[in-house]
Amino acid sequence: MDGKKIENLIRELLKEIGEDTGREGLLATPARVAKSYGKLFGGYKEDPKKLITVFNNEGYDEMIIAKDIDFYSTCEHHMLPFIGKAYIGYIPDNKIIGLSKLPRLVEIFSRRLQNQERLTKQIADTLNDILKPRGVGVVIKAEHLCMKARGVEKQNCVISTSSFTGLFIKNINTRAEFLNLIK
Ligand code: ZN
Repeated sequence: MDGKKIENLIRELLKEIGEDTGREGLLATPARVAKSYGKLFGGYKEDPKKLITVFNNEGYDEMIIAKDIDFYSTCEHHMLPFIGKAYIGYIPDNKIIGLSKLPRLVEIFSRRLQNQERLTKQIADTLNDILKPRGVGVVIKAEHLCMKARGVEKQNCVISTSSFTGLFIKNINTRAEFLNLIK
């Protein structure tokens, strides 16, 4: 990402919406936006498969769950934020993942232009590829600012998406256990 180029583009954008880019409140705005884009869209340059540490499983064969993982993403349709929580569960086979890497995985995929369905599936598919576990379940619940901005009646609408692999698809009890534990 070229910060200077983004600054110039934001200055153009401000002019186009009718702003005076010379007024005091806006002088540093292009630079601030460029800096924030570095964070908001920092996920493109990261390869989750390289960052994730995997350990040998020493016989643990129950479900592992990480819940209430806060994330902040940007919807690809409106470039407005969508914010929520991710819930990840998996049943290991031979490999387990370092626990702190689960929020990290969510962060890498959320710091891009996204839609919620893809974000959910990318997390599940990546874990499935890296760990080859007996099953993965991912649920995301989020509020979209693009929905909120359109009307008062949608203020409290929470969108929920899910993605499952392995035992979470085949075994209805496994899926029910996961959904119950993340409530
Ligand atoms: Zn949107």
